[in-house]
Parts: sequence; C-alpha cells; structure tokens
Amino acid sequence: MASPTSASLAERFRDRLPLGPETPIVTLGEGSTPLLPAPRLSARLDLDVWLKWEGANPTGSFKDRGMTIALSKAVEEGRQAVVCASTGNTAASAAAYAARAGLPALVLQPAGAVALGKLAQARALGARVLEVRGSFDQALAAARQLTERGTHVLVNSLNPYRLEGQKTAAFEILEELGEPPAVLALPYGGGGNTRAYAMGFEEADAGLPRLVAVESSRRAETAASAIRISSPAHASEVEQALARTGGTVVQVSDEALLEAWRALAQEEGIFCEPASAAPVAGLAQAQLAKGTRVVCVITGHGLKDPEAVERLTPPPLTVDPDPDAIAAVA
Ligand SMILES: *Cc1c(COP(=O)(O)O)cnc(C)c1O
Repeated sequence: MASPTSASLAERFRDRLPLGPETPIVTLGEGSTPLLPAPRLSARLDLDVWLKWEGANPTGSFKDRGMTIALSKAVEEGRQAVVCASTGNTAASAAAYAARAGLPALVLQPAGAVALGKLAQARALGARVLEVRGSFDQALAAARQLTERGTHVLVNSLNPYRLEGQKTAAFEILEELGEPPAVLALPYGGGGNTRAYAMGFEEADAGLPRLVAVESSRRAETAASAIRISSPAHASEVEQALARTGGTVVQVSDEALLEAWRALAQEEGIFCEPASAAPVAGLAQAQLAKGTRVVCVITGHGLKDPEAVERLTPPPLTVDPDPDAIAAVA
C-alpha cells in the first residue's frame, strides 16, 4: 500500500469524499502539501504564523485538490468533455486532469487577463483555449450556458465536487497541528475555497478556526489576477460561513499585497503568485491578539506569473566575467 504522503488525496480521505468503490481516481499526486512555520513573519507581526504551501500541488495551485475529484466523477458519470471559465489556475488544472483522464478540455479566459505561466500550462496540456472578449464574470456566464446544452461538464468551483476535494486541506492542517488554528486566512476571489475550508473544518468536528477571507479593495482591477473577480460566485455562502466561524472579510490594497508578496519571498523563501500573498497582507488589518496562531493559505506558485516579478525587483545588471567588476557591484 502507498504511504500516506504519496497517496492521492482521494485515497487518503476516500471515506470523507463522494467516491464509491468503483469510482476511477484521476490523480497526479495532489495534496499532502507542506505546512511551514514562518519565523520572520511571526516575529514581525507578533503572531504564530504558519503557511499552507499549496503551490506544491502538481500544477502549482490548490485547484488540483478539487480537480482530481471533479474529473474522477466526470469519468465515472461517462461525461465526454469539460469546460471552465478561468483567470488561469482552474484552466491549468482542468487541462492537466482532463489530459490524465483522456477527455478534451475547453478553456474560456478573459482576453488579455491571464498570467503567462498559466496560459502556457493550459496550452501545453492540450486544452482548447479561447479568449473571450469580456470579463471573467462574462466568460463564466457563457460557460454555464454552454453546459446547459449537455455536451460539457462545468469544472469551475460551482461544480460541487471541486469543493469536496478542496476541503481536504482542512483535514491535513488538523492532522499536522492536532487542533484547528485560531485563525485561518486565505485569499477571497470567487469564494469557493473559503467555503471549502469551512466545510472541511465543520465535517472534521474538531472545532473551527475564525476564517479571515482577504479580498482586493480593487476587485475588478487588482494586479493579483487570480482574485480579479468583480462578483464572487459564492458570496452569500461565504458570508454564512464567516458568520458561523466568527470570521470576517478584510480588504487590502495592491500596495499592501505586493509588500506581503515581497516579504514571503525574501523573508521566508516562499515564491508565490501575488494573489497568494493576500492572507499575509490581511493579517496586519485583522487586529489579532499577540501570539495568535494563524494558518495562511498560500494558494499558488510564483512561476505562474513571472511578469509580475518586474514589480518586485529591477532586472539583473550585466557585467564582464571579471571578479573585480563583479565584486564592485555585488
Ligand atoms: C483560484 C485562486 C484563488 C481564489 O480562490 P476562490 O476559491 O476563487 O476564492 C486565490 N489564489 C489563487 C492562486 C487561485 O488560483
């Protein structure tokens, strides 16, 4: 038998997922991601900060947790194709798991609004990628209408199996810490992941963290493309989940977000994409008591959005292969 950490999350948590004994598991080895202490951030913020590093998933974001279950169920149900609207990570994940399942994937993305790495993934993995003239919200509406014709199954987070898979991150945190953290902070785009964490902690029945859902104060225009969503699909359920956990929504500026992104990279060695720094940026505004234990969900890998690095640091200098010249500028 596979050891717990190399097993797919579907195998590890099968009894808590909507999987039958005959469901074929479509897996790339997702889940079992690191939970890392963040000593420098903890010292600076006077908190006990931990990072759930979801960039370590197979396609570089937490979307893989849900996509393994969505594609497993699609195969079980005999579906012929999948479709998603995406600002990037859902598309990359859908493309990978559809390829693994042997199904075609159709990706609708808002024109010109998808980070380079994510687009590269969807294309390389063989998805049919279409740029929709319009916003993410308009692309999603079109994808939903297409599924009504019966040809494609929607694998956006409105697909209930996505949230089932994503809730397993809460189980992993409980396994590692032995109890829920006081606070769980995460980026708030469409809100599917916020709901999934609430579900996971509620089902585990070991107590609830306060959920802090961190959104951009400029939802429609933020530099953080993964949370550039003007109307969150799960807004009312997120509100209910926050009420049940005593949690809250926090808004952050792009400046605060970029500063938290720099700190994660340069103080903790975690290179994530800009949206993933939102929970760290939100901590400063959440007014938490000294020493509070917080888990920040770091949702996606920095290589997803290499162009954003221009905002973080100037390009490298060019020097001659001469030790004096190099020492002079090092
Ligand atoms: C999808 C995504 C989010 C937003 O998650 P929601 O479930 O839409 O709130 C945040 N960060 C990254 C990297 C993502 O891919």
